[in-house]
Amino acid sequence: MSPIAEPSFRESVDLMFNRAAALMDLPPGLEEKIRVCNATYTVRFGVRLRGHIHTFVGYRSVHSEHMEPVKGGIRYSLAVNQDEVEALAALMTYKCALVEAPFGGSKGGLCIDPRQYEEYELEQITRRFAYELAKRDLINPSQNVPAPDMGTGEREMAWIADQYARMNTTDINARACVTGKPLNAGGIQGRVEATGRGIQYALREFFRHPKDMAKAKLSGSLDGKRVIVQGLGNVGYHAAKFLSHEDGARIVGIIEWDGALYDPEGIDVEAVHHWIVRHGGVTGYPDATHTAEGGAVLEAECDILIPAALEGVINLANADRIKAPLIIEAANGPVTAGADEILQKKGTVIIPDMYANAGGVTVSYFEWVKNLSHIRFGRMQRRQEEARHELIISELERLARHMGDGWSMSPDFKAKYLKGADELELVRSGLDDTMRFAYQSMSEVWHDRPDVEDLRTAAYIVAIDRVAKSYRAKGL
Ligand code: NAD
Repeated sequence: MSPIAEPSFRESVDLMFNRAAALMDLPPGLEEKIRVCNATYTVRFGVRLRGHIHTFVGYRSVHSEHMEPVKGGIRYSLAVNQDEVEALAALMTYKCALVEAPFGGSKGGLCIDPRQYEEYELEQITRRFAYELAKRDLINPSQNVPAPDMGTGEREMAWIADQYARMNTTDINARACVTGKPLNAGGIQGRVEATGRGIQYALREFFRHPKDMAKAKLSGSLDGKRVIVQGLGNVGYHAAKFLSHEDGARIVGIIEWDGALYDPEGIDVEAVHHWIVRHGGVTGYPDATHTAEGGAVLEAECDILIPAALEGVINLANADRIKAPLIIEAANGPVTAGADEILQKKGTVIIPDMYANAGGVTVSYFEWVKNLSHIRFGRMQRRQEEARHELIISELERLARHMGDGWSMSPDFKAKYLKGADELELVRSGLDDTMRFAYQSMSEVWHDRPDVEDLRTAAYIVAIDRVAKSYRAKGL
């Protein structure tokens, strides 16, 4: 953290909100209504573990109910506090509005270091937390739908879903009470990697906009771009893997809690991921230079910086030394409001968190819809689609025979064309469409309005405008 006084995370989000709201024509009362967090529930509950009663503190914050259910992850970390949960809930409101996921914003957190507990203990703690939230409708398919965040994943979501189902035995939509579940517990293909996949789609879309690239003094495509990623967890690992394996980007730096790896020639993301799984951190990884002071690598030369771990890591203390011309905020709130101003003056382009990491909530939306419709995406259409394609292919082949030699289809094209889309392909297509569309709405405001100087302000304007319209439609 910066030694210089900075606003808290929530204040930082409010400052960014205010900057955008000042450029809009909102009635002052409505502006205030949108900004404030509606309610935060704090719960202290006891669980008997290792012969003692341990008391845990958890939160579930509901920022805006202009649409319901409200949505947002549950984080397990010792740093969880009310300010952080409220900031994250506010970001969820704006994020959902920006990517047109029909939810209000919420977030939850439990003050715990999950690494200190055995799996069966974590299950007991999670089930008890879920019970406390569910009995107040803070977990409910039509009111409040959590998802994974830092320190939680599919396993915790499966426990939560099961706990809710035990408490609501006749709720036919019980599975829709939480997203990010394993496939066999009502999850959806592609949810685990969705946020990282969204980062990839966001960057691809950025590189389709020459005017935006020019602002960051970048050109060409993702191929060969030097990338530094902070946090090789769910989001950072998938983003780094897809960018290097599928788009030709070079991952030159990986920053983790125990230091950073650096290699200007590129680091093998998969190998580092396996190393972390086996050793708990990056220390000792043999094929790159290790620096104990990981934060310093945020300041190294690169084309794209991806903070994908914690909030506030780019702050007043280091902002002027950040060299990356393009930062994509995979984590929530990695750049403080003060740092944001410094970077903007330097000409750094920041793709803001509320857009960049929206892939998770987008695929969560698909999962929720799948749970409510009780059917896997593509189950009705896939074979029908294949049959129609088969019809076209056989007709083309008949014509080709008629035309004589030299008219034939490449076998690769034929195989690809004949295959109907499965759930994973449909999820990717929906995610790609969402990320492209949201980027375009943000970028348009950035270019069309001379008073909007950055993508973050543009994103807030699009989001606030949609939330305001929704409140107005309710008669507020
Ligand atoms: P995660 O727990 O899977 O990964 C976090 C990673 O950061 C871990 O590898 C951890 O070791 C590393 N880390 C911890 N402290 C660090 C430090 N001081 N320096 C560098 N690395 C450190 O969490 P995640 O789900 O990948 O979430 C990361 C960020 O992305 C959070 O801000 C979260 O809110 C945001 N996010 C996550 C999702 C999602 O679907 N999981 C969706 C949207 C946003």
